[in-house]
Amino acid sequence: MSDFRMETKCVQSGYEPGNGEPRVLPIYQSTTFRYTSSEQMGRLFDLEEPGYFYTRLQNPTNDAVAAKICDLEGGAAAMLTSSGQAASFYSIMNIVEAGDHIICSSALYGGTYNLYAHTIKKMGVEATFVDPDCTREELDAAFRENTKAVFGETIANPALVVLDFEKFAEAAHAHGVPFIVDNTFATPINCRPIEWGADIVIHSTTKYMDGHASCVGGAIVDSGNFDWEAHKDKFPGLTTPDETYHGIVYTQKFGKQAYITKATAQLMRDLGSIQSPQNAFLLNIGLETLHLRMARHCENALSVAKYLQNHEKVAWVSCPSLPGDKYYELAQKYMPNGSCGVITFGLKGGRAAAVEMMDKLKMVAIVTHVADARSCVLHPASHTHRQMNEKELMEAGVQPDLIRFSVGIENIEDIIGDVEQALL
Ligand SMILES: *Cc1c(COP(=O)(O)O)cnc(C)c1O
Repeated sequence: MSDFRMETKCVQSGYEPGNGEPRVLPIYQSTTFRYTSSEQMGRLFDLEEPGYFYTRLQNPTNDAVAAKICDLEGGAAAMLTSSGQAASFYSIMNIVEAGDHIICSSALYGGTYNLYAHTIKKMGVEATFVDPDCTREELDAAFRENTKAVFGETIANPALVVLDFEKFAEAAHAHGVPFIVDNTFATPINCRPIEWGADIVIHSTTKYMDGHASCVGGAIVDSGNFDWEAHKDKFPGLTTPDETYHGIVYTQKFGKQAYITKATAQLMRDLGSIQSPQNAFLLNIGLETLHLRMARHCENALSVAKYLQNHEKVAWVSCPSLPGDKYYELAQKYMPNGSCGVITFGLKGGRAAAVEMMDKLKMVAIVTHVADARSCVLHPASHTHRQMNEKELMEAGVQPDLIRFSVGIENIEDIIGDVEQALL
């Protein structure tokens, strides 16, 4: 499908039925797979032959959906995970060991911040958080001998900072490490980070990809572009023998598939954050309309942003596609067709007014979610980011009065009408 355009890939990639086979991707609701020869099963366990044997590692439904996401992102290999958090975790754990270090943009999703600031620290992996708007010199200064990756979000949730891909990619590559991007908010419809130098792209498919708030899920896509062998000493897990598979060397045996094969063969085997095939099936249905939904989300969000910008009670509005926004130029460069459906704003009455306004909304609901068909709001300082102190909140780009508004695909006049009455 790689020659087709994005809309066609959304609908058709990943699954091509043979003659007389189901037109729609089947749900392989089976934990296990049958073989007629014990020897062949042995070869699968040795990674000598590709094939399914146990759904904790791989499942045909999941693989078809991963292949679609891979095609949309322009990658070489991909896998699904049980959640976006699992995707963030695996993307790093696949290339670090205790004693290693990573660099992250400080404008991150709250869960990702906790994962990298606290949880992986307990495993001996330290993270340095850098201001995404820092200079190249400041970024370079964050690197250490033991740095193994650079991580950032295309459009940060909820700060709506647009990542300067070229700056981050060039710095990562100058220091011989991969650049990993969380592309959840833009989706490959609006931005393909691999085209701007990202080596690995991850997703919380829970958001726009599924699009209906029905399934938690994640994905990891590897571009196949990072030359692990050229930085052999930094990445022994990929470039030296894996004794748990009779000494195979992932880079030598799997080439551009090395990173994803290792993540499947080791991390899925040992940690088991597989997506259920049932959820993968539903995710695939979501992906079939991703291109249509993203366009409407972006159009509606821009209209709401313009409405709020002109409202007397509104102190500020942030929407990367809104002319005059701090990240407008970067958004035009990396995602000229639209950014995402999430906008943020603050009221002149501050934090108290924010809470009051949210409580008055009728159609737009208060939920801990973003990026699905239904419009919703959240107050990060009271909800997703409540474990952060004021300083950490500001570093993450989350003002205490910030309301995150995930603009859905309802009729725009109904959305604005609800906001209007809540602001009275
Ligand atoms: C929601 C989200 C995550 C975490 O994904 P889950 O599917 O909830 O585990 C990671 N990154 C971003 C940008 C998100 O919005």
